[in-house]
This record gives sequence, structure tokens and C-alpha cells, in this order.
Amino acid sequence: MTAQRTSTCRICARPLFDFVEKKTGGLCRGCAHKQATEKVAAVREQQDRYAERPLTHEDFEMVCQSTDLEAACHLVFGKAHSKWSKRGPSALTISERTLLAVETFFGETCNGGVDQYLGNESGKLAKDLPEALLRVGLTSYVPLAIEIRQRQRTMNEDALDDLTNRFFEPYDEHAFRRALFDYIRDHEDEFV
Ligand SMILES: [Zn+2]
Repeated sequence: MTAQRTSTCRICARPLFDFVEKKTGGLCRGCAHKQATEKVAAVREQQDRYAERPLTHEDFEMVCQSTDLEAACHLVFGKAHSKWSKRGPSALTISERTLLAVETFFGETCNGGVDQYLGNESGKLAKDLPEALLRVGLTSYVPLAIEIRQRQRTMNEDALDDLTNRFFEPYDEHAFRRALFDYIRDHEDEFV
């Protein structure tokens, strides 16, 4: 089999191998690379600008219609988190505190166990966690969260491992994500 060149680059008109044409949709490698790089830079710039302003009703509408519940939650979480970083916990609404407490609990514990959850900035929200879980409807985690709050300064490694194991017993990624998404959707006026 010989490689055919039956078309040319849409941008610079260089002859293209057919397999390159198929892969890039009609661009030579140089032009394809340049175009992708420019696209990524544009998206990043948009995201940077986007991070500076609060959520609008249009953003929230987009979040509620998203079928990617994780990405939708993370978008709202990102806003609440940057508000927390810039203006401190007292600037947050109850729903923002709730989202931060629950998302960081699941994120950090799934990632590195209760040890990591308490060791990172998320541990500062452990005092809010039982009430936050109740608000979101993740009631099966409430006893665990109360125990974490009560014992957070006195636990040794074994106790932390035991709590991590207990976290994963009822863990259902889809149920967790659905509950948090529904909570966000039902509290628009505290996120926008
Ligand atoms: Zn080209």
C-alpha cells in the first residue's frame, strides 16, 4: 500500500497524505497543531475571565440542563470556592457552605481517605459537615460526619482508616452526585 496525497491543506495548501487529511479534517500537521493551540488558549482565557464574575441566571440555566452532573456541580463549586478564598467563610450563603462542605468531603475522602480530608483545607469545613449532609439528603453519612467532627483532633492512623472504610460502605457515586446536583438546582437564589 502506498500513501496517497489527493488533497491539500485548507489553510496553507500543502499537499496532504490521505491519512493525515482524515485525521485532521483537512489540515497539514503544522496548521492543525497551530489551530488546536489557539483554541485551547482561547478557552483558557475565557475561563480566566469567567472565574472573575459571579454566576448569572443564564449560567445557572445551563448548569441545570447539563447531563454531565459532575461538571455542572464542579462549575458551581468553583464559583463558591473562589468566593471562599477571596472573601472568607462569612461571605458564603448557607447553600454555598453546604456545597463546599459536601463536595470537598467526597472529593478528598475518595481521593485519599478521611486523613486527607482532614489534612487539607476541606477539614476546616468538618464542623459544618453533618448539617450540610442533612440538607443535601445524604443522611447515611451523617453519623460518620458527626464522629469525624467530634474526634478530628484526636484520631490516630487506625481510627482514620476505620472511618475511611466506613465511608466507602454506603458509597454510591451516582446517588451522591444526583443528590448534590438536585440540591444546587433547588437553591438557585443562593448560588446566583
Ligand atoms: Zn497547512
